[in-house]
Amino acid sequence: MMMKILEKLNPNVAGITPYEPGRPIEEVARELNLDPAEIIKLASNENALGPSPKAVAAMREALPTCHRYPDGGAYLLRGKLAEKYGFEREHVLVGNGSNEILELAGHCFLHSGAAAVFSQYSFVVYRLVSMLCGARMREVPATAGLGHDLAAMREAVSPDTAVVFLCNPNNPTGTMFEPAAVETFMDGLPEDVLVIFDEAYAEIALEAMPDTLRYVREGRPVLVTRTFSKAYGLAGLRLGYAFGAPPLVRALNQARQPFNCNLLAQIGGAAALADDDFVAASRKLCREGRDYLEGVCRELDLEYVPGGAIFMLIKVGDGARVFAELQPRGVIVRPMAGYQLPEYIRVTYGTMAENKRFAAGLAEVLGE
Ligand SMILES: *Cc1c(COP(=O)(O)O)cnc(C)c1O
Repeated sequence: MMMKILEKLNPNVAGITPYEPGRPIEEVARELNLDPAEIIKLASNENALGPSPKAVAAMREALPTCHRYPDGGAYLLRGKLAEKYGFEREHVLVGNGSNEILELAGHCFLHSGAAAVFSQYSFVVYRLVSMLCGARMREVPATAGLGHDLAAMREAVSPDTAVVFLCNPNNPTGTMFEPAAVETFMDGLPEDVLVIFDEAYAEIALEAMPDTLRYVREGRPVLVTRTFSKAYGLAGLRLGYAFGAPPLVRALNQARQPFNCNLLAQIGGAAALADDDFVAASRKLCREGRDYLEGVCRELDLEYVPGGAIFMLIKVGDGARVFAELQPRGVIVRPMAGYQLPEYIRVTYGTMAENKRFAAGLAEVLGE
């Protein structure tokens, strides 16, 4: 049925292809008549160690206060984030996932007269936000190694450019920047261009990260976004944050809903920040996962991108087929056709037992 009202649908919205998340375990279990307990999900870069135990304990204690609205200013959480990274509270913005912060930046700076620059094979949310805001888009071809071509991206900055999205490590390829290349990129960049460093994997990155917080301290037009979804294992809570110069953070706050971060998320997040052991274990999981899967790829003679985050992009030939045939074996990975990488799958590192199940399934599916 065509509804009359849809004739008035915002054309920016009409053009959007919805984000396709990793398939939930319950959905695959229903469809293939499998026991959910037998399925492993390595599709959404979730933390196989579960949530930070410190966060869980703090949230359990806070449950009886859930009839209250959360603190709209997230005073406690922003204070802890500021303290941990050497900022003032005014430098910190919290969001319903770092995804919300990307959208807030779009609402603030992207519109039909402005352009967003981002890389080919980068996080799809940059495109979604740009389209939602009706902005022009400059997608810059990736390097041969599927990473950002920072020199070409710098060239793509023109007078109408309002936002540059830089993802490091990049999702879905896992590629990372040379810290020196970031300095070159930032050198002499016009002061009316907002650079968003999306560092969702910063705490567990396997290679050196550039010191992007320095640009925030210098008062440059830079936002560094991070999340509790990966290193702290709190993806289901939806909690992310950003550091930026106070005037920039104030502008984004103007575009945000009053209670965007829920009460449990604020309390759980604040407690998680003190859970250094958990973050260390998460990083170890990434390193062991990468070492193991590199070995598997070499054994199966498969090309892969030696990424620096919690996942690996593997060239399997027909990614859709491998994705489909792993599912009845109880293994969910991410097909990459939506990212114009149809020959690849993306696999999140799990526990070693999960990694081994994936490897065995992959060998079967590829007929080794
Ligand atoms: C996972 C991820 C995020 C985090 O999103 P949240 O909304 O904080 O869960 C952001 N950017 C990239 C590149 C990611 O991979």
